[in-house]
Amino acid sequence: MADIPLKIPVGISSCLLGEAVRYDGGHKYDPLITTQLAELFEFRPFCPEMAIGLGVPREPIQLVRTDRGIRVRGIRHPEVDVTRQLQQAGNNCAREFADLCGYIFKARSPSCGLEGVPTWTEQGEQSGLDGSGAFAAALLSARPGLAVTDEARLQNPDLRVQFIEAVFSRYRSQHPECD
Ligand code: SF4
Repeated sequence: MADIPLKIPVGISSCLLGEAVRYDGGHKYDPLITTQLAELFEFRPFCPEMAIGLGVPREPIQLVRTDRGIRVRGIRHPEVDVTRQLQQAGNNCAREFADLCGYIFKARSPSCGLEGVPTWTEQGEQSGLDGSGAFAAALLSARPGLAVTDEARLQNPDLRVQFIEAVFSRYRSQHPECD
């Protein structure tokens, strides 16, 4: 029987590790993730907005309801539509990081948010909190069953334990030789 590795590979929105990749040059360093969870997991940081070449600083983007469905568009320049590129980044990430057993996303991001991301009308009014980030949705579609969470849920001790257990369970299902 093979042993579970010292640390299991888990993808993560790179701004949560303190990388200055946000649109304004900032980050969203999360001390809980970088201390407690870093002891268990080998993080694979990824920023989809950087991956599609948007750079720092960049135009902030948001989810907009249109007659073509929910699109990811520039806030100041709505003619900028990066929906397809972010979806492609999700597919590429699923393929290139095939060994991931889990993913920690940045909550409420139009790229990385799992759910509950604000959506807007084309007239600029908030329409709801029912969106998912385009990158996250594409990645999950390509890798169903991946253990996923975000930094907001990880603040809850019960949800944190659930996520850790789901990652280990996913590892075992991908590596039956460890059972
Ligand atoms: S939320 Fe996602 S896209 Fe936005 S800065 Fe963080 S890693 Fe990049």
